[in-house]
Amino acid sequence: MNGNPGKAIVIGSGFGGLALAIRLQSAGIDTLLLEKRDKPGGRAYVYEDAGFTFDAGPTVITDPTALEELFALSGRQMKDYVTMLPVSPFYRLSWEDGYRFDYVNDQAELDRQIGLKSPGDVEGYRRFLDYSRAVLDEGYLKLGHVPFPDFRSMVRVAPQLIRLESYRSVYGMVSRFIKDPHLRQAFSFHSLLVGGNPFETSSIYALIHALERQWGVFFPQGGTGALVQGMLRLFAELGGELRLGADVDEVLVRQGRVSEVVLKGGERLPCRLVASNADVVHTYDKLLRNDAVARRKAQSLKRRRFSMSLFVVYFGLKGVREGMQHHTVLFGPRYRELLKDIFHGDTLADDFSLYLHAPTVTDPSLAPPGHSAYYVLAPVPHLGNADIDWNEEGPRYAQRILAYLEQQAIPNLRRDLVTQRIFTPYDFRDELNAHVGSAFSLEPVLWQSAYFRTHNKDRELEGLYFVGAGTHPGAGIPGVVGSAKATAGIILDEQLNRNAA
Ligand SMILES: Cc1cc2nc3c(=O)[nH]c(=O)nc-3n(C[C@H](O)[C@H](O)[C@H](O)COP(=O)(O)OP(=O)(O)OC[C@H]3O[C@@H](n4cnc5c(N)ncnc54)[C@H](O)[C@@H]3O)c2cc1C
Repeated sequence: MNGNPGKAIVIGSGFGGLALAIRLQSAGIDTLLLEKRDKPGGRAYVYEDAGFTFDAGPTVITDPTALEELFALSGRQMKDYVTMLPVSPFYRLSWEDGYRFDYVNDQAELDRQIGLKSPGDVEGYRRFLDYSRAVLDEGYLKLGHVPFPDFRSMVRVAPQLIRLESYRSVYGMVSRFIKDPHLRQAFSFHSLLVGGNPFETSSIYALIHALERQWGVFFPQGGTGALVQGMLRLFAELGGELRLGADVDEVLVRQGRVSEVVLKGGERLPCRLVASNADVVHTYDKLLRNDAVARRKAQSLKRRRFSMSLFVVYFGLKGVREGMQHHTVLFGPRYRELLKDIFHGDTLADDFSLYLHAPTVTDPSLAPPGHSAYYVLAPVPHLGNADIDWNEEGPRYAQRILAYLEQQAIPNLRRDLVTQRIFTPYDFRDELNAHVGSAFSLEPVLWQSAYFRTHNKDRELEGLYFVGAGTHPGAGIPGVVGSAKATAGIILDEQLNRNAA
């Protein structure tokens, strides 16, 4: 902290920004949370159309203990703010050839399904789970919430990274244990949930499997938006202030220290520190545009690799479909090749793999009586790779996806359609200020992880901190909530040292 007067300012109310604001406020640091949009949550925004409630982004809530900790900091309990409902199966995985795998948290049932498909893989799956648990222990429980401020901190963990063969890809590691092609997909797609191509992302991200098995998969009653509201209520009770529609235009630096935040419209807010939950490129390139150090960092960041974007269709239907699961992954005809097109291609592929979210399976209150709510998402190339005119292509692509869904999963979908809206890479760029419209910020490859990711504290600009998907450990709710713990840890240590001096 730089000793300036004013509050601590957090720019952006995504899960990372919210979690950091709660941590600072719980520690007695007066915190102001600034959000450019009219609602909080960032990627976890909520749309309300024709009586349907659509969570815009995260729907698979894992590691609830990381969230519970935020409430426990001030002697509260999360269950008094939001009810988390367990979801089973975690996902239904389905392929065009008719094969289905219900990914559940029951070892005997998993063994049964794996044994039916590929008897030799039952034992291989057990060994994969052991590996995944070992990485969860090292990569998440020990390191998922500690900062990597200098190269030494990276060198210290190098032996563990080598021992866990983190130089291999997720798919490479899964394939070592599991032989069946469908099951290889079933146990490797998880890195996509944090923006990583299973064929290129470090095998460290295989930990997501053990993470889900450890604590389960949850969905908040009332939707993910209810979890955001619960966190906000906690923040407000602690005395924190949220300002919506507060679009930050600039962060001013004086003599190497952040000193003020300027809103669009000109209002100036003095601050003792700034933590940006906004996109890391946006922060250095736009918000700190008048600082030479920041401009240099923005240029260097722009040369790095960014995660794919997403195309999302939110839709509400007349009628309730029996037999649907809350989360379904529909694998298309190609896996490796499609992922190559998504991560490296410059056009839209003809085929797709989709994630279908059907929240009314768990909580019917998210649609009017006798109706059901959904969203379907397709990973697509980001705008830096594929110069697609999404104003033109978006409505067409939505039609293609809905027609495919109608054929594969939801008969009569278009007949029963009540409402529909889309979110395209342009919206990631323009609504969320995401560089190249990336859905998950920096791609989670080994050389962009831990020390090599944007640091939780800027080393040159005093009083500037980061939190969220672009920082260590990365995207996903457990990731950004972990990044908030890392960033708060630095800020609170600095305060302690200052008080002691
Ligand atoms: C469609 C989708 C589905 C997903 N599904 C899951 C899932 O099921 N489970 C899971 O764990 N993760 C999921 N993720 C990933 C997860 O949602 C994100 O990694 C995480 O929510 C990002 O949080 P964040 O803290 O980085 O902030 P963000 O959510 O990126 O929020 C940043 C905030 O900063 C604000 N902002 C930007 N610029 C400014 C400015 N200049 N002034 C003021 N405010 C500004 C933005 O408006 C935004 O509110 C999903 C992501 C997407 C897009």
